[in-house]
Amino acid sequence: MKKEKILGFDVCNENEEKILKNIFSDYNEGKQSIIFSINPEIIVNKNKDNEYIQLLNNEKYQIPDGIGIVYASKLNKGKIKERITGIDMMEKLCKESVNYKSKIFLYGAKAGVAEDAKIQLEKKYSGINIVQTCNGYIEESIALDNIIKVKPDILFVGLGSPKQEEFILNNKEKLKNIRILMPVGGSFDVISQNLSRAPNWVIKMNLEWLHRLVKQPIRIFRQIKLLKFIFYVITNKIRKKERKNVKN
Ligand code: UDP
Repeated sequence: MKKEKILGFDVCNENEEKILKNIFSDYNEGKQSIIFSINPEIIVNKNKDNEYIQLLNNEKYQIPDGIGIVYASKLNKGKIKERITGIDMMEKLCKESVNYKSKIFLYGAKAGVAEDAKIQLEKKYSGINIVQTCNGYIEESIALDNIIKVKPDILFVGLGSPKQEEFILNNKEKLKNIRILMPVGGSFDVISQNLSRAPNWVIKMNLEWLHRLVKQPIRIFRQIKLLKFIFYVITNKIRKKERKNVKN
């Protein structure tokens, strides 16, 4: 998988189709794929945590989740052309899973939400095999035991960041038989229709963040991080340029 670095974080710069193809070819070979969504918020929250960055970088798939990542790549003369959101990737994986009859487990969100998401996914992808759901507010060890017992092929974890990434990384050994593991943030809330996603034209204009802000004004504190991210990317670029000038 071809990748580039955004402030130390690896991000795949292949298109979505190629990434999906790779994931399912790994699936066929019995290899495990962990798919992390890299967005400005994770980068700002964790940019000083080298150990964490390394753990994310060690996996094969890190998708460019957010227009901020696309712009940062552009500024670095990178190759990331479009964002791949976690929710879109999750839906594509669900669609493709039908061909593999994969057993899917949905873990996360408030009571009843993952169950509603299951119903919606079953309506959308005929033949999908969601074997169990579990809300994200029960004790983690109970959820883990449940997942291990059910032996899914695909596990989506919607606990919010960094809880969901840590759940996967901390339990990697216990979850080693699961072929696809992916943290998905608030995707169950949207898929279950408990929270609406922006209209398509808003998504296309890269203004989804604004829609989320209107729907959940409390997110303002999280979205301020986007400004911090832009600041980091620009100062990093300036520093690199200065270093280059000193060398010359
Ligand atoms: N959540 C959970 N358990 C927790 C904390 C959060 O299941 O202990 C869920 C929450 O209900 C929501 C999701 O995690 O469904 C986090 O959504 P958020 O909007 O923060 O994620 P984003 O999509 O922004 O990454």
